Amino acid sequence: MPKPTSAAIDAATTIFNLPGYRVLDADALSFGQRRITVESTDPPGCPACGVVSSRRKERRLQRVRDIPVAGPVELIWAKRRWFCDESLCARKSFTEATIEVPRFARSTRRLTAGVQTCALPI
Ligand SMILES: [Zn+2]
Repeated sequence: MPKPTSAAIDAATTIFNLPGYRVLDADALSFGQRRITVESTDPPGCPACGVVSSRRKERRLQRVRDIPVAGPVELIWAKRRWFCDESLCARKSFTEATIEVPRFARSTRRLTAGVQTCALPI
């Protein structure tokens, strides 16, 4: 039997379609809302020196505003903090940031783009 040559993407991740993220869990809440928990799939590069880390320091949950995907969604990012293993780097640890949710952002880029598209000129 042939084996896949790349990592298979699960159905929930495919349906949710947030670039750079993988769906970890999905729960049904009241009023048809769903809580989607995701984690980043991007390699964790130190913002100061660029070295990719392999040692996780901690993980915390961050709520991120996002577009409705087949109904209202509460998006939770299981955001990791990594050690920087470069001995010459002054930054000892850093948190993940992605293109879709840049550093200090509280909304996904697709939500921001959607709001800007819908905004009417005054
Ligand atoms: Zn570094």
